[in-house]
Amino acid sequence: MHISAIVAAGGKGERLGGGVRKQLRTVGGRTLLERSVTPFDGSERIAEIILVLPADLVASPPDLVRGIRTPVRLVAGGGRRQDSVAAGLGALAPESEIVVIHDAARPFCTPAVIGRTIDAAAECGAATAALPAFDTVKEGRVEDGATLVGATLQRERVFLVQTPQAFRVDLLRDAVARGGGADATDEATLVERAGHPVRLVQGDVRNFKVTSRDDLALAEQLVSAGQVETRVGLGYDLHRFVEGRPLVLGGVSIPGPRGLLGHSDADAVCHAVTDAVLGAAGAGDIGQLYPDDEDRWKGAASIELLRDAMGAVRKLGFAVGNVDVVVVTERPKIRAVAGTMRQRLAEVLLVAPERISVKGKTGEGVGEVGRGEALVVHAIAMLTRPSDNT
Ligand code: MG
Repeated sequence: MHISAIVAAGGKGERLGGGVRKQLRTVGGRTLLERSVTPFDGSERIAEIILVLPADLVASPPDLVRGIRTPVRLVAGGGRRQDSVAAGLGALAPESEIVVIHDAARPFCTPAVIGRTIDAAAECGAATAALPAFDTVKEGRVEDGATLVGATLQRERVFLVQTPQAFRVDLLRDAVARGGGADATDEATLVERAGHPVRLVQGDVRNFKVTSRDDLALAEQLVSAGQVETRVGLGYDLHRFVEGRPLVLGGVSIPGPRGLLGHSDADAVCHAVTDAVLGAAGAGDIGQLYPDDEDRWKGAASIELLRDAMGAVRKLGFAVGNVDVVVVTERPKIRAVAGTMRQRLAEVLLVAPERISVKGKTGEGVGEVGRGEALVVHAIAMLTRPSDNT
């Protein structure tokens, strides 16, 4: 079954203040947008992701888009949420049968919740994640400017609706067409109005919507309170210096008479960082993933191997927390190029350069490094991902 995801991030989201749009606000170093997309990107069941963004972000997409492994299409959103979703529906692959819609303001959705909504929609056409009401629920009414209790509702009948919401594509298209432009705060409402039942499936308390600064603070607390899994990986590489080869370190070409010997561009920094990142994710090592004898990677820029490895690691739900690199060599002086290397590595690792460190050491004249025969790199990577207690 062809299943598509629409992540709705088309809103202006200025309510949080601070001059940064809501979808680009960070929680634990990653944007709400990235956190909302990641569980869909990690799901084997999702064949394509339609990312509905404000028009200026479609024109100049945020870095995280390059890291999405699932086929992705960017679509400019409309004025209202339902216009954005309609734009997303227009971009679905023709073979799409089920569409899952998720709000980019919900950064902690889990694969389990996504799976439940898909299964229910496949069975009955339409489903939404929801939570039962645990508090007593009252309906309010306003009298002389004061809000009074109008009625106490039967709590058992009240559910608080979340996203994801999943639908058979034909059913949702029909409901959107019949909706005739009337306002709706979610797609389930349109389907209900069209007379089709919508099934409620168990949501997740952590899958809350970030709408206020308090919510943002709560989201930060959740991340820092260990609701994320932290992994550490180590990488090491050594290459011999030879005359007449270009020297490339951390994706940066460094002019000079000598470079490093190797099958690829021999970028030992990228090799060590790739191994550190793969190691942290338990995703194998550089030799396994990019064998020397495979034509696909022959003559490849090693920074592209790192970009590919990062994609594989993101597919498992991980993001880089930080990376620290030590380059041991007599020449060149690493300090002079460390800033540029950090920039290049940060671009590929999809984090701010502040989270990347590159330091130089010398061999103090001792051993093969000290004699200038070889260059050694040590790298350590810390990765995080939301823990999924399904
Ligand atoms: Mg190497």
